[in-house]
Amino acid sequence: MTAIHCHNVSRAFDDVVALRDFDLEVPVGTIVSLVGPSGSGKTTALRVIAGFDMPDAGTVVIGDRTVVGPGVNIAPEQRRVGMVFQDYALFPHMTVTGNVGYGVDNGQRAERVREVLDLVGLAEMADRMPHELSGGEQQRVALARALAPEPHVVLLDEPFSNLDAPQREKMRRDVRIILKNAGATAVFVTHDQSEALVVGDIVAVMREGRVVQTGPPHVVYAAPSSPWVASFLGDSVLIEGVASTGQVETFLGVFPHRGREEGPVDVMIRPEWIHPYPDDGGDAFVVDREFYGHDQMLLIELPGGQRVQSRIGPRPLLDPGDRVNLGVDEFVVFGK
Ligand code: ADP
Ligand code: MG
Repeated sequence: MTAIHCHNVSRAFDDVVALRDFDLEVPVGTIVSLVGPSGSGKTTALRVIAGFDMPDAGTVVIGDRTVVGPGVNIAPEQRRVGMVFQDYALFPHMTVTGNVGYGVDNGQRAERVREVLDLVGLAEMADRMPHELSGGEQQRVALARALAPEPHVVLLDEPFSNLDAPQREKMRRDVRIILKNAGATAVFVTHDQSEALVVGDIVAVMREGRVVQTGPPHVVYAAPSSPWVASFLGDSVLIEGVASTGQVETFLGVFPHRGREEGPVDVMIRPEWIHPYPDDGGDAFVVDREFYGHDQMLLIELPGGQRVQSRIGPRPLLDPGDRVNLGVDEFVVFGK
């Protein structure tokens, strides 16, 4: 079942095209991470779904109801969409309880507020004012407020941008767990690729007003649809290759490859797919090492002078100057 379906949505501001034939499907009960660089149209997409902005063309269906389309424009408050913003946007003069209960019918209010405050882990803070809470707690109140009226969907626009790095990492775990426990359907907007991969059941990558690839995080990461998606979603080594029947030839070796490509191709390899095997007689050597504790990123030079990155675990520790042979266990080929 589909909770949100955007079809061919376009929106321009004067000569700036914010959305062009934007297509997105959000299945019920899933979190979709909508990720793209700044200016790619993410906020505009959320505003169109929520009803704060009117597209020039296209349709949006929420549940089984068309909320915007030819001759249709349902008011935001009738779309049953919950919003969470970067700046929390809590009512400063209301307690946590007041904020969370704001959109809930009187009869169920007290019970529902207790329920969602439990869900977000803030039951103890029901009587506090927003200024008495940390940024992370305020954002959890905002999430509780969005969930309280049992919306069809929750839309979150860069909700962690105002938090510092350690808080942000904790929040992305917490928010994912809260949304899953609530059984919520959500669109989570971020420009941060690691946040998108961690939070989403599905990742939709946006570029210049369009969704260019959609899929589970591990799939879009391992099988990006273009070199652009590959480098946007993580570290990548992009090298030239020549494809012929059954193989692709690169300076890292000749790999078996069954594809339709013939002739010059681009070959993308994630650094963790490149394995250095220490060998005093090896023809490559370590130029530099970044040590991260849980892993190390090596810069390795080949006999031809080409350099590639290789990510390995913390052990064995390889030092600049160490000689190695390289093995590659996965790669993606892009036709030119
Ligand atoms: P994102 O959220 O991905 O950073 P936005 O949806 O905010 O991107 O913006 C997409 C493009 O549309 C940008 O070029 C932005 O400057 C432009 N834009 C967004 N809203 C407006 C507006 N109200 N008026 C003019 N241009 C806008
Ligand atoms: Mg934005």
